[in-house]
Amino acid sequence: MSENFSKIKKLISKTDQLKTDPHSRLQVNRADYKTILIKNAPYIFTCDENDKLKVRENYSITIKDGIIERVAPTDELRADEKKFDLVYDAGKRGGIVITPGLINAHAHPPMYLLRSSMSLDEGEDLNETLKNLYLWEKKMTPEDFAVSTIGDLTEEQKNGISTTLSHYNFFHPADFAAETAGHNLVNAISVASHVSPENRPELIEKLAAETAGSVSRLAMSVHYLYRADAGALKKVKELVEKYGLLFTCHFAETPKAVKETIKKHKLNEVRVLKKYGLLNSNTVVSHAVHLDLKEIKELVKGEVGVVHLPTSNTIHKSGTFPFWKFHDAGGYPRIALGTDSVVSKSRLDLLSEAFQTRMTHIFDRTVKFGSLFKMMTINGARILKYPDRGRILPGFRADIAFWKLKDRASMPYDTDKPITILGNIITHHGGAVRDLMINGRFTVKERRHTLINESRLLELLQERHMEMRKRMKVKS
Ligand SMILES: [Zn+2]
Repeated sequence: MSENFSKIKKLISKTDQLKTDPHSRLQVNRADYKTILIKNAPYIFTCDENDKLKVRENYSITIKDGIIERVAPTDELRADEKKFDLVYDAGKRGGIVITPGLINAHAHPPMYLLRSSMSLDEGEDLNETLKNLYLWEKKMTPEDFAVSTIGDLTEEQKNGISTTLSHYNFFHPADFAAETAGHNLVNAISVASHVSPENRPELIEKLAAETAGSVSRLAMSVHYLYRADAGALKKVKELVEKYGLLFTCHFAETPKAVKETIKKHKLNEVRVLKKYGLLNSNTVVSHAVHLDLKEIKELVKGEVGVVHLPTSNTIHKSGTFPFWKFHDAGGYPRIALGTDSVVSKSRLDLLSEAFQTRMTHIFDRTVKFGSLFKMMTINGARILKYPDRGRILPGFRADIAFWKLKDRASMPYDTDKPITILGNIITHHGGAVRDLMINGRFTVKERRHTLINESRLLELLQERHMEMRKRMKVKS
């Protein structure tokens, strides 16, 4: 870790030891907890091994070393509570609804510092604003990117997100942030970037050697396919095969991107993937708006992962993702949701993205709440190749979101049809999440981050944002 990163860590980290409190749902038997009992949960929502959405009523869960061991009816899972380092009573104070931690399949966390630096809402020329975005990014330091990413990931966590794909240019700031905030991160590094023209596929080779065993998982990205030349794409394929890395790109996002790709490669974007051996399940494309049925079928057949970003598509006037065409072509299990950056969405909340999905496509058919839930959990895990995340089942990672039942986000609901709770939670917003566990550790407890001093983090974000404005000589 660089000296400057260590300074940031010292400034904003805290060691918040969980304590037993008579009002709390927690009983702490050992501060350095490894075994956990979550008991008396009135409702657990999860998909089973066959992707069927299940509602478990009055269940308990045991966890050991970050892995879920047992999920069983509370009556059957009678255990000696003293044997567990931590006991969480999910039946207390009106009860807690349990879901898997949510999976955000497309984001740009290092851009968090740019919130409010853009003028997307005020009717200025959008293209002009976006054209100048890279000028801002060029002025940012590795420390800016690190603080940015911590700001972004902690906001995501407070909205129930435990895993994120970050599409950006630098590995180390995002990796440092994932470690500091305790987040699961796919760290997709651009191999053809106009912000960092020095980024080439060779950099990935170097990172693959250097970063084995790091907190985040290395992957590759290009901003748009028309920014990469034939040499770079050939090398990407080689690296996908050599290291088993994921590859991601913005794809068919706007008519301009479609046109530029044909100009550069003499092929449409699907054909470019095909030509370079990238039309497969190691590829994740975001947006995928401007495609005809033939292209959609080819992406589905190739098992390419697709990230739907309805808010971003609307804010940037990019167009409407052909959700039902993908669905009817058999592509639904590989559609996940993403937030994009704070430049493209106001709040880093996946539930509002799910709700936006429902609203966007409702004129054709209604995307059911269960389908939206799957897009945020199992579909995200599938396309990001996390076979042990996104479900509350034995053997899976303990990534768990805890939602208050006695809350306006959950109540009132139909006790005969508990799926109505899920509908309520999705139509409300992610801010209703109470606690969040990632890999068996609480990162959010009672709406507060357990690893980050959020007050200091906000001060640091504000300070760095204004410094960046000064460097840009922007008048406030
Ligand atoms: Zn994006």
